[in-house]
Amino acid sequence: MRYDVVVCGAGVAGLAAACALGRLGHRVLLAEKQDAVKPVAKGEVLQPGSLAILDEWGAAPDGALKLGTLVARDAGGAPQMALEYGRLPVERPWLLAHDYPAILAALTAALPSTVDFRRGVLVGGLVRSGGRVTGVRLADEVVDAALVVAADGISSRLRREAGIEASRQDYPHRLAAFELHGAPSVEADFSAYVTERGLRLRYPLPGGRVRLYAQVGADELRGLDAAGLASWADGLVSGTPALAPLADAIHANLGGRQLLPVSRFLAGALAVPGLALVGESGHAVHPMAAQGMNSAVADAHALASMLRQGGSLAPAVVDHALARYDVARRENLTQIGRTSHNAARMITDLSWVGRVAGRRALRGTGGNHRIRYTVMHTMSGLGVHPLTPVDRLHQLGVLPDPRARRLPAWA
Ligand SMILES: Cc1cc2nc3c(=O)[nH]c(=O)nc-3n(C[C@H](O)[C@H](O)[C@H](O)COP(=O)(O)OP(=O)(O)OC[C@H]3O[C@@H](n4cnc5c(N)ncnc54)[C@H](O)[C@@H]3O)c2cc1C
Repeated sequence: MRYDVVVCGAGVAGLAAACALGRLGHRVLLAEKQDAVKPVAKGEVLQPGSLAILDEWGAAPDGALKLGTLVARDAGGAPQMALEYGRLPVERPWLLAHDYPAILAALTAALPSTVDFRRGVLVGGLVRSGGRVTGVRLADEVVDAALVVAADGISSRLRREAGIEASRQDYPHRLAAFELHGAPSVEADFSAYVTERGLRLRYPLPGGRVRLYAQVGADELRGLDAAGLASWADGLVSGTPALAPLADAIHANLGGRQLLPVSRFLAGALAVPGLALVGESGHAVHPMAAQGMNSAVADAHALASMLRQGGSLAPAVVDHALARYDVARRENLTQIGRTSHNAARMITDLSWVGRVAGRRALRGTGGNHRIRYTVMHTMSGLGVHPLTPVDRLHQLGVLPDPRARRLPAWA
């Protein structure tokens, strides 16, 4: 069997890649090992950069909620640092919140007719010839392709088979995810609460639901019975008084919690001849800055644009496009990784030094319009603008910033 492109994995990265490459007119096989989408609490907030791409593809999810601000608050709810997305110079200057399966469904509905989407199909490994990847092995056949796209997630088998190095660093905490039904309505923003026990994150979801993430130690919830969980929830609310209005809903929805590990890495290469990595097969960041899914969409968009510029699927042309994809995305993802890690550290680092530095940096960023705008622009997916070492000193309040009230010079 032969296709122009094989995409392995139909999470957001694989669907986005199939959509982008199918739109170029390529015949794409999209193979997903699961028979159905799992209802998991991840990837619910879209940034303006990926929204613009999804709009272009006709793949923006219907019925999503607009969130105007990403705000870090103290445990009582007072804002410490607010990124106001309405200031961005784009058509849709907001975050969009929806369930991960709804975002996948919108991408699936937008797949061009050139994409052959098969569920329940495990990609068993890579096929190579002449020093490049030339296809994949399925259970009972080999599929040849001019390009293979690994979108098989953080534990990517294809990345490993291609010999691409990826040293994952796990954060010392997990995120407990709660979907609150029957909760009173909350502000239409993405609120990260800075508490003595670390991060609490909440935002509204369609249908009057609220998403709540709580940072927990690796064993914090292990072995708790119903009474233990109820007392843990009491502690959660008393340590974050701003969540008091949600207390009943938290208690009522404890049973549906999910516990998610968090880690970060950037693979040593995002492409080798014949093979591209997109999404979490190539990189992962802490979820608190809502970047992973958005970077996956940007990967797919960039990969398609490099291939389009190449103009053909001849091996040398594809490999040249892949090399350019690697360089372009690496630069972007390095900055996204740094921004996400710094944001995560400010709130989740529970060491004494970490807390003091984190709170100072939050206040310093919150009071500096130029740095706030720069961080927001990078996070929104509209283009990265690295902070300089001097900016870090401004953030920590060590050095006053005479430009703190202005927009950055590049804006
Ligand atoms: C708690 C949490 C909250 C998050 N919130 C956000 C957010 O608000 N915004 C944001 O942008 N990002 C967020 N993220 C990150 C985001 O969810 C991920 O970056 C994104 O879902 C990764 O998508 P992916 O397609 O690369 O990988 P995955 O979703 O892991 O998809 C990989 C797919 O490949 C399939 N597969 C694997 N191996 C094979 C094989 N051999 N053959 C066939 N199929 C295979 C798997 O079944 C799976 O469907 C969050 C993550 C977490 C954990």
